[in-house]
Amino acid sequence: MHATDLKNLSYSGLVSLLSEMGEKPYRAKQLWKWMYQKHVKSFDEMTDLSTSLRNRLEKNCALINFKLVQKLISKDKSEKFLFELPDQNTIETVYMPSPDRITLCISTQVGCRMGCKFCLTTQQGLMRNLSAGEILNQVIEVQRRVDQKITNIVMMGMGEPLENLENVIQAIDILRSPDAFNLSQRKITVSTVGLVPAIEEFGKRTDVNLAISLNASTDLLRSQIIPINRKYPLQTLLDACRNYPLKPQRKITFEYVVFKDLNDSAEDIKNLGTMLKDIPCKINLIPFNEHKAGSFQRPLDQTVITMQDALKQNGINATIRYSRGRDILAACGQLASQSANLQ
Ligand code: SF4
Repeated sequence: MHATDLKNLSYSGLVSLLSEMGEKPYRAKQLWKWMYQKHVKSFDEMTDLSTSLRNRLEKNCALINFKLVQKLISKDKSEKFLFELPDQNTIETVYMPSPDRITLCISTQVGCRMGCKFCLTTQQGLMRNLSAGEILNQVIEVQRRVDQKITNIVMMGMGEPLENLENVIQAIDILRSPDAFNLSQRKITVSTVGLVPAIEEFGKRTDVNLAISLNASTDLLRSQIIPINRKYPLQTLLDACRNYPLKPQRKITFEYVVFKDLNDSAEDIKNLGTMLKDIPCKINLIPFNEHKAGSFQRPLDQTVITMQDALKQNGINATIRYSRGRDILAACGQLASQSANLQ
């Protein structure tokens, strides 16, 4: 039988476990501080717990740690980590420092089954969901290895977060808790390709930022490059966005990866203007990061700038987000795919 990994427990779950061990509830706060604020690797380091409790925790419980398999550092100072999980699967986590924020892009699944045609992660298929503890442990492992405090979390790494809803919600609750990572809801973003029922559920259960990976302005193209669009076409997806319970001043982010000669025409801009005009939103234009395994091409920089200007003229708040770490295989799944020889 596997020992209970404490990072997989909610606060109340941890209190119950401690109570079964004859310990008071306040011990849960102490454990959270050691795990999520001091990022310790072992029970031994939890020096304000009695030796007897530490021994019992050591015997009956576990604290997962990952093995760092590879780390690549980009010219732009972003860092890509390939971690090995206890079952030998690997996942990627990307650290992206910038002057105003320190962002960590984390994975939520090992692989992915969504089949987006431009994405390397999906080539390995879905191996399994990450546990809540494995989602959180990426933050801990990277924070141990960098000097600056991680201020923002984006769930845009490997996997479709809303396919792993329960673990993602539990991880978000712990990221937000003042007794753990203490991040505000505005500093956490979850990105989905458009699992409509899960979007509705997600909106009921949390108020962190929602990003939709849109990437096309017609059903014809979107269904070709993002297969889930056949099940939840644009009209259905955009209706879910219109009905999403946004707080005042908050917006949905639409991510739009721009592919040369595929989704970068004047017609696309016109469609986007019409589609998004009644949704409180902003759109991120992301020039595609080319990789060897696909036929998609990076657009000209000028094309993306023209798109941004045109969208703004249509009243849409548009920004350009250049991929970080282009020199270190930063597109989602590139490092894990390379390690699995998929490139
Ligand atoms: S883009 Fe995201 S949802 Fe699509 S296959 Fe890749 S990891 Fe999965």
